[in-house]
Amino acid sequence: MRPTVGFISLGCPKNLVDTERMMGLLSKDGIILTGDQTRADIVVINTCGFLEPAKQESLGTIGEFVALKKKKKLRGVVVTGCMTERYLGLMKEHYPEVDAFLQTKDFSKITDVVNEISLGETAKLVARRNLVGEEDQLQGHSEITDFVERAGGRRSYAYVKIAEGCNRTCSFCIIPKLRGKLHSRSIEGIVDEIRQLVAQGTQEIIFIAQDLTSYGRDLANGTSLLELVKSVEKVDGLKWYRLMYNYPRFFSDELIDLLGSSEKFSGYVDIPFQHISDSVLKAMRRPESKADIYGLMRKLREKIPHLSLRTTVMVGFPGETEDDFQQLLDFIEEAQFDHLGAFTFWREEGTPSYDLPNQVSEEDKKDRYHRLMTLQKKIQKSRLKRHIGSVIPVIIDGFSEKTKQGFVYQGRHLGQAPDIDGVTYVVTDNEVQIGQILQVEVGKIIGDYDLLGAETHSYSRMDERRLQRAASQI
Ligand code: SF4
Repeated sequence: MRPTVGFISLGCPKNLVDTERMMGLLSKDGIILTGDQTRADIVVINTCGFLEPAKQESLGTIGEFVALKKKKKLRGVVVTGCMTERYLGLMKEHYPEVDAFLQTKDFSKITDVVNEISLGETAKLVARRNLVGEEDQLQGHSEITDFVERAGGRRSYAYVKIAEGCNRTCSFCIIPKLRGKLHSRSIEGIVDEIRQLVAQGTQEIIFIAQDLTSYGRDLANGTSLLELVKSVEKVDGLKWYRLMYNYPRFFSDELIDLLGSSEKFSGYVDIPFQHISDSVLKAMRRPESKADIYGLMRKLREKIPHLSLRTTVMVGFPGETEDDFQQLLDFIEEAQFDHLGAFTFWREEGTPSYDLPNQVSEEDKKDRYHRLMTLQKKIQKSRLKRHIGSVIPVIIDGFSEKTKQGFVYQGRHLGQAPDIDGVTYVVTDNEVQIGQILQVEVGKIIGDYDLLGAETHSYSRMDERRLQRAASQI
């Protein structure tokens, strides 16, 4: 009997895309997939090895499923993702019960691996285990296939990975060692994938890569983010797209102008600036200066109407002084980011920053993180307040996960990306499909990040009692 396979995708959306691709390959082969791992015969764990907490989560998950296998509640465990790039030898030693370790460059072999496990061909499995990822050192050459069908039917949004790897050398980051040099896909392959997703009902595309703005620079044939965006603009049926993980370089004037005049671009740009102090940026080995960053922000705000800006910053990098940190706070106050993620610096083995002098104490890191997030919460609230009383388009992702009863839908407006930003709850009397875009009059702020409103067609004016009821359920 064919096995039922469950997936666990840890880490970032870039991993999720690989997971969906593996799911797509298995589905094509007639293998049944389940979202309920307790019903799976084989579980595939796509690990994340970015920072220590992610590593621990990955190891904990492997341990959990290996224990189930030992109790014979599971026929097989497959491990893939960043951890197999980084710690293959160690993991083989610690988890001999794992049936196969699949390196990211080999993810297209998932069907063979699953079929062999289900046949219980032990001898072959041993061979497979050696065949799949036999080198124990860092590989640094993950590949990105041009087009592999993705699993899943109608959905409101999908991530599309346009390149793998990174040519940058940020001193805190292990990713280039794990994922190798930049390797861009062709524009044709990406557009084909988007067409397939749109044909399945996907309305919104989120472009991802380790360094989105460098897209195409390795191909030396004129491929660039600008050319890609021009082609994507022509895809019929696609409603919105977002640009995530942009390095603050190579935002050409032409690209900014095109984004500013586009009807499909959501206005959402994510640029992880990491810091603003010149000395910290230099120690991070990021070539942009404070002046470059302010200049880019000005240009984006000037040219892109309804810009929603997200950034990520790091506090407590070695050598960061109180003055550097104050510069960061001033920058955040001035920039008024719609969304901001913050990390405290983590000494990551194998990165140049591991051995840097003047490490900041854990106490100072925590204190700075807390001060920064307190400021951002205040900014976030005032950014959310702008929406109260306005009518904005909201894409519906499904029913609200929080309300058990009552038809409260959950969606996102143009300035909200899935998984990382807040959501917009919507009350309506109409039946709504996943991916439908509704015009919503916003009535309330819920918690620190979310909004609540009503579909304008179903209410001639805001029904306060109905909103109150919905708010109390959320
Ligand atoms: S650009 Fe991003 S992925 Fe590349 S080295 Fe810097 S932080 Fe890491």
